[in-house]
Amino acid sequence: MHPDLETLVDLHHADVELRRFDSELAALPQKKAAIEAQIVADRAALDAAKAALDGLAKDRKRLELEVQDFEAKRSKYKGQLGEVKTNKEYTALLHEIENVEREIRSREDSILEAMEKVEGGQAKVKAEDAAFKGLEAQRRDEIKAIEARIRECEGGRAAVAATREKKAAVLRPDLLTEYSRILARRGTALAEAKDGACTMCHVKLRAQVFVDVKRNDAIITCSSCSRIMFFNAPPPQGAVEAPLPH
Ligand SMILES: [Zn+2]
Repeated sequence: MHPDLETLVDLHHADVELRRFDSELAALPQKKAAIEAQIVADRAALDAAKAALDGLAKDRKRLELEVQDFEAKRSKYKGQLGEVKTNKEYTALLHEIENVEREIRSREDSILEAMEKVEGGQAKVKAEDAAFKGLEAQRRDEIKAIEARIRECEGGRAAVAATREKKAAVLRPDLLTEYSRILARRGTALAEAKDGACTMCHVKLRAQVFVDVKRNDAIITCSSCSRIMFFNAPPPQGAVEAPLPH
């Protein structure tokens, strides 16, 4: 391969990699923020459920105090029954006692209702609390993995950027200018030629152009997308693929 073309291919691969790192580095903080927001939202829901439970316990306490007050009133009225002088007063007192007893019964019903709700609510909140803790630990692990990946990408990006800088420094200035111009306009400056076509714009190359590109010994641009073309020789027939590292 022509050394200039080889450097251009290296630059191209470096730029493709840099872009991949950049897009990942742009997406990762958002992913992390979304997980953090989920933790906050789940915690708020759990706190609200706990607050509702506390509210029920307070309601019950208030109702019990009211029952005590009414019971005191009932004792007082019952005590007065022996002291009244007329039937009318006696009937009026009985009526008052009935009223007080109705108030007591209604509050006792409410207390039972609150107790049932607290009982069911406590089990529910306990389960939710355990689920939240499990999920939170899992989410914290996810966040740690994202943070590790961010550091990995930053390190990888810096290494690729340094390599790119070295390659750019040895490239002919006019070629570097040309490369940068196409890169700025097209997003990628090079295109692999494969099966007689440009793989970026998919336009069929003239037969002679494809033959020339396959030699990899000159700077040839695609007549359609103006990217600099290169050719990757296919591996020889029957070649054994290297095993993947474990
Ligand atoms: Zn093209």
